[in-house]
Amino acid sequence: MDWLLLADRVLTGEEITDDEALSILNCPDDELLLLLQGAYRIRQTYYGNKVKLNMIMNAKSGLCPENCGYCSQSSLSTASIPTYKMVNKDTILQGAKRAYEAKIGTYCIVASGRGPSDKEIDVVVSAVKEIKETYGLKVCACLGILKPEQALRLKEAGVDRYNHNINTSKEHHPYITTSHTYDDRVRTVETVKEAGMSPCSGVIIGMKETKQDVIAMARSLKALDADSIPVNFLHAIDGTPLAGTKDLNPRYCLKVLALFRYMNPTKEIRISGGREVNLRSLQPLGLYAANSIFVGDYLTTAGQEKHADFQMIEDLGFDIDFAPASYAI
Ligand code: SF4
Repeated sequence: MDWLLLADRVLTGEEITDDEALSILNCPDDELLLLLQGAYRIRQTYYGNKVKLNMIMNAKSGLCPENCGYCSQSSLSTASIPTYKMVNKDTILQGAKRAYEAKIGTYCIVASGRGPSDKEIDVVVSAVKEIKETYGLKVCACLGILKPEQALRLKEAGVDRYNHNINTSKEHHPYITTSHTYDDRVRTVETVKEAGMSPCSGVIIGMKETKQDVIAMARSLKALDADSIPVNFLHAIDGTPLAGTKDLNPRYCLKVLALFRYMNPTKEIRISGGREVNLRSLQPLGLYAANSIFVGDYLTTAGQEKHADFQMIEDLGFDIDFAPASYAI
């Protein structure tokens, strides 16, 4: 496969075929740098050398009645994690201050659970109004399955983006959770769009899915027109049903990131949870395909030190995309 030619075809607006998508995931290791060069050509066209940074506030931890097999916060999990109800407004504001001071462009307020109560929406709405006035940060909320009226309240408060991952393919979804359906997840993404928020929806790779499943995920997110696509790599946590799963290696993770770039050329592709443990020493190469990362800790697992992320970006010769208020999300 001529990867640079494929990238040029993508840049003319052509969609790659399923066979080409499979070739990306099966790319021989000795062609990996050429595959990434093509991905970088696409990334650079739309995002230059900018890297968007995101920081998570885990606003409510554990205590979830759902049974997602990868999640340490689920009803099935016996993992030892902090559990607490929705934090107060001041705690959310303190996190926003930390994000602003660290030049993190997007602050992500995340809560465990099937979906938010109206009281929890009250807390988020009140915090977001103040965050927008004080810091001008972009705000992403991730609170679970959303009702249309809740989505409108978040939009009115100033929430720019809402994350609700499809997580895996429609076919594979029942093997990951049975307490809600793939269609429930898609419906929330549609609700977010109807309310006028930017849809963020992504995946978790490494949950025993096939390569065809991975291609289906990338295609579904294209069809959903998700503006932002977090690509998580399973960090299997002891005490969860997927504990012990170790199907990934760093080179395959890079091929997945390249696939998402070739298939969703104009979108924000974010290397998300599991970056450090799965990409390991090849983390910097991921940014030739992706243009966004999380800085700091994930929901219940630690990320690498903030300074290591900033150092990585500087070493690549890339720039941090930080322009509060005027920042194009
Ligand atoms: S992923 Fe969300 S919905 Fe699923 S168990 Fe974890 S917190 Fe609950």
